[in-house]
Amino acid sequence: MTNLDAYRISSEPFYRAVDSEIELFEAAHKSRMPVMLKGPTGCGKTRFVEYMAWRLGKPLITVSCHEDMTASDLVGRYLLDSHGTAWHDGPLTLAVRGGAICYLDEIVEARQDTTVVIHSLTDDRRILTLEKRNEVVKAHPDFQVVISYNPGYQSVLKDLKESTKQRFSAIAFGYPNSDVEAEIIKREAAVDRRTADTLVRIAARSRNLKGHGLEEGASTRMLINAGLLVAADIPIERACQVAMVVPITDDPDLRDALTGAIAACL
Ligand code: ADP
Repeated sequence: MTNLDAYRISSEPFYRAVDSEIELFEAAHKSRMPVMLKGPTGCGKTRFVEYMAWRLGKPLITVSCHEDMTASDLVGRYLLDSHGTAWHDGPLTLAVRGGAICYLDEIVEARQDTTVVIHSLTDDRRILTLEKRNEVVKAHPDFQVVISYNPGYQSVLKDLKESTKQRFSAIAFGYPNSDVEAEIIKREAAVDRRTADTLVRIAARSRNLKGHGLEEGASTRMLINAGLLVAADIPIERACQVAMVVPITDDPDLRDALTGAIAACL
């Protein structure tokens, strides 16, 4: 038996529901349906899956996908030790055996030949083949795959295969409405509501610049970072520069536009 206690979330993560995502995920989890969380970076997808794992009482194994990731990084490999070679399960295999939610974060970053290993797990076979071990692992009844997917980064070279996409049901995430977002910032950064409201107004202007040179506007994560700096006594204008302007653009005109947007909101 695989013991996944180390992957259990012991205390309730703060998650503020934005829509009906909690009910949708619970419904999908009942049949262990693979779920795609779709939306821009920093809008709460990871926090949501942590919250759901806690709420459902399931261990959560997270893998941050990247382009050098191989199928062995997911399923496992033989490693040399003092007794010779020993097999080590990768994170996906651990989750399959132990009945965890396996969260593949930013899955489009991985090469398509890596992501196809989840195909036999995300249809009614629910099996994982460990070719190097000549073993077929039947998924634990609680095993579920969740992926995050940022449609903004999508390109012809970097996208999921159609046959991968079609295995998932998708919950769309966006930035929360201004009232909810201010509540999240107030709570996460421990700032007063006035500061949180100001940050949200600045974000709205920054998001309007998306497509005019900015790939993405300020995310909720960036607003929280700005809030944390304010809470550490950095003046709000400076905090916004450091957390919301300099990280996202090197273009002087865009920096000026963002700086103007900040000044207009203070
Ligand atoms: P993503 O996975 O979409 O890139 P995260 O889940 O890491 O983004 O979100 C970034 C941060 O924003 C979180 O650490 C959390 O502080 C905050 N956050 C965003 N949305 C919510 C929400 N609905 N409830 C609580 N916190 C949130």
